[in-house]
Amino acid sequence: MRFCLCFLMLAAGCAFAADLPPSEALRGKLVLRDVQPPALETAAHKLVTLDGDEPTTKVLGDKRLNGFNVEAKGHFTAPDHFLIDPIHTRGLLVRQGGKLRMVTYWCDTCSIRSYTPGPCVCCQRETTLDLRDPDEM
Ligand SMILES: [Zn+2]
Repeated sequence: MRFCLCFLMLAAGCAFAADLPPSEALRGKLVLRDVQPPALETAAHKLVTLDGDEPTTKVLGDKRLNGFNVEAKGHFTAPDHFLIDPIHTRGLLVRQGGKLRMVTYWCDTCSIRSYTPGPCVCCQRETTLDLRDPDEM
């Protein structure tokens, strides 16, 4: 029974994926401002508003990432609106030192890593921004 259920979920997953066009990559500079929604400035100086799932939105709310060059995977929902793929697909990577890195947050006290900014789930102390090589995760 368990096997059947897994198979069904897999089949449903495939059908869902088939409905979507393949993800495209959007590269540019993060523009994180207080009032306006998060955006990405392309090489052609075009501003594209970024959207994503809840964890991705939280990461985009982290002003420490303002000005970073990033690579976002996802889909345009309008000519100036880009929906980033869910965070577990590593839809948003940050370029640092010529390499693409994952945005993670680290608590030194508890050695706990999280993928959204904010207080540590354990000790409630503020986590530090820690850009990681995806191959090392
Ligand atoms: Zn902690």
